[in-house]
Amino acid sequence: MIRSEILQLKAYSSHPGEIPNGGVDHLDTNESALQLPLELKQKLMWLYQEHVETNRYPDGTHAELKKALGEYVGVLPQNISVGNGSDELIRSILIATCLGVGSILVAEPTFSMYGILAQTLGIPVFSVGRNPHNFAIDMAATQELSTSNEKPPLKVVFVVHPNSPTGNLLQEEEVAWLRQIPENIMVVIDEAYYEFSGHSLVSELPQHPNWVILRTFSKAFRLAAHRMGYAVAAPNIIDALEKVRLPYNLPTLSQQAALLALKHRDLLLNSIEQLQQERKRVYQALEILPIVKVWPSQANFVYLQVQNPQDLVTQLLNKAHW
Ligand SMILES: *Cc1c(COP(=O)(O)O)cnc(C)c1O
Repeated sequence: MIRSEILQLKAYSSHPGEIPNGGVDHLDTNESALQLPLELKQKLMWLYQEHVETNRYPDGTHAELKKALGEYVGVLPQNISVGNGSDELIRSILIATCLGVGSILVAEPTFSMYGILAQTLGIPVFSVGRNPHNFAIDMAATQELSTSNEKPPLKVVFVVHPNSPTGNLLQEEEVAWLRQIPENIMVVIDEAYYEFSGHSLVSELPQHPNWVILRTFSKAFRLAAHRMGYAVAAPNIIDALEKVRLPYNLPTLSQQAALLALKHRDLLLNSIEQLQQERKRVYQALEILPIVKVWPSQANFVYLQVQNPQDLVTQLLNKAHW
């Protein structure tokens, strides 16, 4: 009874199987190295104790959260939808736009979740490459795709700004391409690393009713444990996302955690300057190693290539103590 696409698919796992969970620092999911400060954790637990009614469903409208997010982003609450991680929003986008009728476009290498979620829904994924030197999207290939009569037709283009895993921002030529994509194709700009790069395309949303910006609390806001993501878009797109999501998608404690993080964002985002300095230090230290090719990054990680990655992993594991 299981669909053949699902039988063929391997369940998502962030860390390769042979790597143990304890004793090593996993860097491959790009979480913050810092937790919430203890005083905020205690405040959250106090809120849980005093205000959370465990017998009641969470607020399914996310009203308070949308208001606070609107203030942070500089848009109205009706421009925001909140998801159980941006992963849920990606899936909602695919259901609302493509299910049974359309395909998506991604530029590899990029965040794997667009392709994985599309596959689980039977949605075809068209993939174009990137320039191996600066990871700019292959414009000729995108042009070819958009003028060909692909079936099912292209409904969504996914880009990441800055890209994961390569850490580069969209360049002017790529943004110009996004601006001229026809309004019957959705453009999703994933800004999961916005707080580290300081670059956002949110200010262009009013001119582009087909654009959606995705953000998350999993990185700079140190809340990966709570699964909070949000989408910013025109109200008609937001309405569609609200229709397809599950009714109580965000646990009460997670909503409280996100509200608390937004309220104390000055404190939490204070650490970003330090991260940027550390990113520079790590980049410079790697750059002088002959066996490593490393690229500048606008995110909270550094992308590098080595001749034989498996060797390096084995060597690092042999140095780990668990
Ligand atoms: C980490 C990351 C996310 C975050 O996803 P959540 O489901 O919100 O944790 C989204 N997009 C990209 C490109 C990422 O790297």
